[in-house]
Order: sequence, then C-alpha cells, then structure tokens
Amino acid sequence: ALSLENVSHNFGNLAAVNDVSLSIEAGEFVCLLGPSGCGKTTALRIAAGLEMLQSGRVSMAGKVVSDGKVDLPPEERSVGLVFQDYALFPHLSVGKNVAFGLKHLGRAERRTRVLETLDQVGMADYLDAYPHTLSGGQQQRVALARAIAPRPRVVLLDEPFSGLDVRLRNQIRDETVRVLKENGAATLMVTHDPEEAMFMADRIAIMRDGRIVQAGPPFELYSRPADSFVAHFFGDVN
Ligand code: ATP
Repeated sequence: ALSLENVSHNFGNLAAVNDVSLSIEAGEFVCLLGPSGCGKTTALRIAAGLEMLQSGRVSMAGKVVSDGKVDLPPEERSVGLVFQDYALFPHLSVGKNVAFGLKHLGRAERRTRVLETLDQVGMADYLDAYPHTLSGGQQQRVALARAIAPRPRVVLLDEPFSGLDVRLRNQIRDETVRVLKENGAATLMVTHDPEEAMFMADRIAIMRDGRIVQAGPPFELYSRPADSFVAHFFGDVN
C-alpha cells in the first residue's frame, strides 16, 4: 500500500536519502531504523508529502502521489501522521482533535467515527478533555486516534514514544501495533531504538548514511546481519 522507489534527496551536497526503495503491504508494520542523521526522518517526510520529492517515485494504494510530475500535498494523500511536530491542537478538545480530519463526513457519522476511534485506543472517556489535562501516554493515544480516524491506507510515525518513560513506552508499543493492525493500514515507523523496532516490526529496514543497508524480519537481521554495522546495531539489544 506504500511504495518508495529509488527515492533520493539532497540538502546542498549532502545525500540525506540515497536511492531508497521500500514497499509496505496493507496491514504490515515496518520500522525504518538507524542512527541519528542517517536520513530516516527525511525519507518519512518525503512519503508524507512534507518534503518535496527530488527524484524517484512514491505511491500509495497503487496510485502515484509524487514522481516529479505529480506531487500531492499531505492532505490529498491517504496518510495518517504521528510526528513529534504534529502535536495535538491545544485549544481543541480531544473529540475535536480526532474530528479534525473528518470534515468530509456528516455530523452523525463524524461523531460515531470519533467515538469508535477513541474507544479503539482506550480514550472514549476523554472526549471533552483538553490535551494539557492528559498524561503524555494519553496524549499519544489521542494523537494515534487522530491519525487513524480518517482510515488512511498509510500511517507514518516518527519516534512517537520518545517523550515517554520506559514502563509506559512498553505498554503503548503493544497497543499501537494492535490498533494499527486492526485498521489494516500500511505502517512505517521511524526509530533509532533497535529494541523498539525488534518488538514492534514485521520487517525492519536499517538505514545508514542515506541508504537502506538491510531489510527483513527482525529475527533475520538479528541472526544474519549483512555487515558489521547491522550486527553492531543489534548487539545492543538483549
Ligand atoms: P534524527 O533521528 O536525528 O532525526 P534522521 O535519521 O531522522 O536523524 P534526518 O533528519 O533525515 O536524519 O537528516 C538526515 C541528514 O540531513 C542529516 O545530516 C541532517 O543534518 C540533514 N538535514 C535534515 N534536514 C535538513 C534541512 N532541512 N536542511 C539541511 N540539512 C538537513
């Protein structure tokens, strides 16, 4: 449902993303994993339509969304975003935050969808609460609900749990995978944490200096690393 083909992106003479190809099926959870500065966020921003494509092609649900000729803005892509810089709107209640991307639905249907989605993330009791009254974990759940409420074909997450403490993080990881699987979206999550990727992903793509150096199921990368970089990266997971 999401496909990046030969995507490259330079900032000046820095090749931030270098010939990256990656396909994700509906219902599949893929982690893009690598050290700080390897180009993960740039790749995700290109998929979202937040960064102009320089070369290559991005498709969603079989339709080209950017290829140099076409370049659909994020709101015209079937994509839900959970980014650190896409925090909840502080002046809107939880319900209004989740309803934000549902303007195309009629009133009654919108309300049903908001409640249904909040229920999915265990936050139905907080419909009228304001973001600042919620804990970090609760805000994170609402952010996920807002992203999936329009039922996008693709969900993109960038380090969504980095602000949470360890105990909460473990719990919310499981919930996030469960909710996204239920919805059947193709999910791509950026993380620098190998343990997080191991726990959550069906498949991991390891990135280094703008390139994907290896992609496969977690166990395969762990047991048969393609090179010492991958081996070293997973060496920290116990
Ligand atoms: P991090 O986890 O630290 O966010 P990352 O793997 O997501 O790292 P990117 O943020 O994609 O990496 O950055 C890749 C490279 O591109 C880095 O060297 C970064 O400094 C550079 N870069 C990112 N955005 C810009 C920009 N707008 N202008 C210039 N250089 C940029």
